[in-house]
Amino acid sequence: MSPDVSDTLSFKIAIIGAGPAGLMAAQVLSDAGYAPTVFDAKPSAGRKFLQAGRGGLNLTHSENFSLFASRYFEAQPFLQPALEIFSPDDMRSWAQSLGFETYVGSSGKVYPVDKKAAPLLRAWLHQLKANHTQFKMKHRFVGWSKDVWQFQTPDSIKDYSFDAVILALGGASWPHLGSTGFWTTILKDKGLNISPFKPANMGFNVSWSAVFKEKFSGTPLKNVELSFRDINGNLQSKLGELLVSEYGVEGSLIYTYSKFMREKIEQKSPLTVYLDLFPHRTQSKLKQQLSAPRGKQSLSAFWKRLGLTGVKTSLLREVLAKEHLCEPELLAKTLKKFPLTLDSFRPIEEAISTAGGLGFENLDKLLMLKDFPGVFCVGEMLDWEAPTGGYLLTGVMGQGKQAAEGLLKLLQTKNRPL
Ligand SMILES: Cc1cc2nc3c(=O)[nH]c(=O)nc-3n(C[C@H](O)[C@H](O)[C@H](O)COP(=O)(O)OP(=O)(O)OC[C@H]3O[C@@H](n4cnc5c(N)ncnc54)[C@H](O)[C@@H]3O)c2cc1C
Repeated sequence: MSPDVSDTLSFKIAIIGAGPAGLMAAQVLSDAGYAPTVFDAKPSAGRKFLQAGRGGLNLTHSENFSLFASRYFEAQPFLQPALEIFSPDDMRSWAQSLGFETYVGSSGKVYPVDKKAAPLLRAWLHQLKANHTQFKMKHRFVGWSKDVWQFQTPDSIKDYSFDAVILALGGASWPHLGSTGFWTTILKDKGLNISPFKPANMGFNVSWSAVFKEKFSGTPLKNVELSFRDINGNLQSKLGELLVSEYGVEGSLIYTYSKFMREKIEQKSPLTVYLDLFPHRTQSKLKQQLSAPRGKQSLSAFWKRLGLTGVKTSLLREVLAKEHLCEPELLAKTLKKFPLTLDSFRPIEEAISTAGGLGFENLDKLLMLKDFPGVFCVGEMLDWEAPTGGYLLTGVMGQGKQAAEGLLKLLQTKNRPL
């Protein structure tokens, strides 16, 4: 039997963390007639969600569900329930319910039509507030003992007590947006297992020459195939696009493999991966083309006729001495297997997301802490990672929904206390 309305409104549910995971939990609870209070350290909600909007807000992905679910690596079994109750299609319906149509981009990634986060977040917050969700901003969660939850506010430390709490405190990247990872010290004191945070979906450092860096930083390297062997000896290989940056390389092709490349570098650095700069031409074809008589043409003009221009020619000059630039066999071999040496990975502060965090072994199937009934944990604060492609937002919002539905289920069977 569901509790009556007066009961639900007086039931004190706190959601700590106003990112997409926490907001989705608030939505489920307020839709069910409860009046959760969302606390956040920052003056406004969803700062990282807004930042994601700067890249077009990739909400989810249109690939088939089993492939989608496999993107969460070894954490897939733990994410599966969240993805089943909040699938990529559900993500699209959710955006639509707030008045925002979505579309599938050429790579299969799904975006809101306007590719903006701010209007969507505004509409979401408006709906939540209209539906009894309260917000307490500038409330930094700093401690928890027994039934007392402590928050640092601009004026003082304030104590609260709640009937149930959903923690949605985020990972540790882009800390100026709110997720600092400070919560790990509080939860470690409770005896919970927390793996150290590591960068995920980050760039890698390459020792470009000063000339190359100056000329090509910010240049995309399109239609290349990246390959290397992961720590298990499996060949990883994918066609895509990366971006040359001042410090090295970043972009979707790099992020796809950031987990595997990080693991290799943790074992031994530097790591050499290989780029096929002409994936649609064989090495023998390239050699044949590069062996054609050049006549009076300059080397650059000759290369240009073969489609070898810009950043690709300069990459050759990065690894081959001038006297070797006229050797068709060596050139063809280098173009098909260009060695890209990754010295190290970029720091967590710059990463799009984080690996590490609170282990799933601390949680039951509802995402509630086994040792602390009534306290749930969701989103990027948990120990899982996924590449870019909309998997992060779908995963964190799915977990927000999973925990909130879990709490509702408990309330239906037990009413209170938990
Ligand atoms: C540049 C960038 C681009 C991205 N683009 C995409 C994209 O296109 N698609 C995609 O799927 N994902 C993207 N992501 C990742 C995505 O934004 C995150 O995975 C997602 O926001 C995590 O949600 P969350 O609710 O778990 O945590 P967060 O969004 O990090 O929210 C956590 C909240 O908890 C609050 N908090 C933390 N500690 C405390 C405390 N002690 N007390 C009170 N409040 C606290 C923080 O202020 C924050 O508001 C991007 C990330 C970045 C940085």
